[in-house]
Amino acid sequence: MPNSATDDPEYDLAVIGAGAAGLAGAVTAAELGLSVALLDTSAQPGGQFYRHPAPALGATRPEALHHDWSTFTGLRRRLADSSVTLLAGHHVWTVVRAETGGRWDVHAVTGADGDGERPVRVRARAVLLATGAYERQLPFPGWTLPGVVGAGGAQAMLKSGLVLPGNGVSPAGAKPRAGGRVSSAGATSRAGGRVVVAGSGPLLLAVAASLAKAGARVPAVVEASGYLGYARHPRTLAVNAHKMVEAAMHGTALLRHGVRLRTRSAVTQVHGSDRVEAVTVSRLDRDWRPVRGSGRRIVCDALAVGFGLVPQLELATGLGCTTRRAQDGSHVLDLDAQQETSVPGIWAAGETGGIGGAQLACVEGELAGLAIAARLGGRPAPAGSARARALGRRRDRMRAFASVMAAAHAPGAGWSRWLDDATDVCRCEEVSAGRIREAVTDFGARDARTVKLLTRAGMGWCQGRMCGAAVACLAAEGPGEALPPSPERRPLAVPVRLEVLAALTETAASESGDPEASAAREEGTGG
Ligand SMILES: Cc1cc2nc3c(=O)[nH]c(=O)nc-3n(C[C@H](O)[C@H](O)[C@H](O)COP(=O)(O)OP(=O)(O)OC[C@H]3O[C@@H](n4cnc5c(N)ncnc54)[C@H](O)[C@@H]3O)c2cc1C
Repeated sequence: MPNSATDDPEYDLAVIGAGAAGLAGAVTAAELGLSVALLDTSAQPGGQFYRHPAPALGATRPEALHHDWSTFTGLRRRLADSSVTLLAGHHVWTVVRAETGGRWDVHAVTGADGDGERPVRVRARAVLLATGAYERQLPFPGWTLPGVVGAGGAQAMLKSGLVLPGNGVSPAGAKPRAGGRVSSAGATSRAGGRVVVAGSGPLLLAVAASLAKAGARVPAVVEASGYLGYARHPRTLAVNAHKMVEAAMHGTALLRHGVRLRTRSAVTQVHGSDRVEAVTVSRLDRDWRPVRGSGRRIVCDALAVGFGLVPQLELATGLGCTTRRAQDGSHVLDLDAQQETSVPGIWAAGETGGIGGAQLACVEGELAGLAIAARLGGRPAPAGSARARALGRRRDRMRAFASVMAAAHAPGAGWSRWLDDATDVCRCEEVSAGRIREAVTDFGARDARTVKLLTRAGMGWCQGRMCGAAVACLAAEGPGEALPPSPERRPLAVPVRLEVLAALTETAASESGDPEASAAREEGTGG
């Protein structure tokens, strides 16, 4: 519904992110009577886990690439039956408190990149941040060669584009024809690409199993940690039996396809002149330092690599939400039992509160939806209701498992030993490990921000999403070692054009009714 003063749409709740958490939160709140806007960068809802091919690709059975697909179709049906306004293709770049009325302004851009871009503002009484996560990358010599992709990225290529890494682009746009090599999702793919899957975390097993089922050859899954960390928590495992079933399912698929699992090992070098031809896999000690002389070459066409996930917190930290450190050292949002952040009126669910998987994200989204509906309806927190109690118990059980998982796959401090000085760490700005080490040892940089100011690492297009974790670790290796207590604050969550920023200050000035500020801005003296 439009706001009479500004003509901008105004809702009870703006949900940012239409993955498992955002979808569950949006439909729950709408079913309880709230007006809800659901914004997402992507063209279709589903987030990372329920990513699926665009209809034009003609996949006949997209569910074949997923387990738990019925959860998504259930959420999609509830979304279609609800009054939720889905704003797809909307990139939210900031959320700010409105000048008046205790509202929040959610600023996004939509439309084609460049001249076709259009600013959009959505005003809401409450905001649910469900922005998910991105992959943690730790660089190594050769990681910028064509054919090296993120592990989650490989999964995303398969789920949304029906393409396998190492095979080039498969003719997936066509409907599968009789006699063609057709994967179970209906993708047509050329057989035979050899993809090594490496890094750390349970995602590797899921990715390797999907790639193998879709027709790739997977010579090895290379896990930098071991799995013993899980065995130390039998009670947590026992109450999360579904996770064991999931692991067994992936393990069986890997056995069936003859995939070898190598633990306590890492890809420490990629070989090839203009694309991946082989990788060196080295054994690691407890701190992830490569064991000298243990390197073995594996011939392959592609490498899918990732070291777990890191919550996407730019919007939250821009708002001043408090974070805490998870067991793997990453920053996650500090949330109360109702999923509210430290900033009243801003809730969060899913990976933003710590990496825990799609089922946990659904539960937290629903809990947040219940809590927000109660708050905006002037009712007490719903903690006492049977539904909220059951959800709360499931959340706590799955969060306990998430903590065990984060600890089991926490990056060891010795990973930087596989970097040589010539390796680019920030690939956008082409900043090498040597230059970062120089900034730390010669110029006294102690955190990623100072390294950025000295070297431009993290200043490029991806805004540190690729190199941020690695730069922070390298910065912490200096004397007086300390990891930063809070994540770096970036006022813009996605790149925006200067004219969008200028329009924002003009609107703010006219809404505040400050003629001097408006005049100063018109004359270009308004700071
Ligand atoms: C690359 C990748 C691959 C993964 N693959 C698997 C897998 O194979 N198996 C598995 O079990 N788990 C996988 N996961 C983890 C799984 O996706 C999550 O556990 C689950 O999706 C969490 O749901 P969520 O709603 O918290 O986040 P997500 O599903 O990630 O949803 C977040 C949504 O927020 C949107 N968003 C973020 N920022 C903005 C913004 N500024 N403006 C607008 N929209 C925004 C994103 O477009 C996205 O749709 C993967 C994660 C990643 C990052």
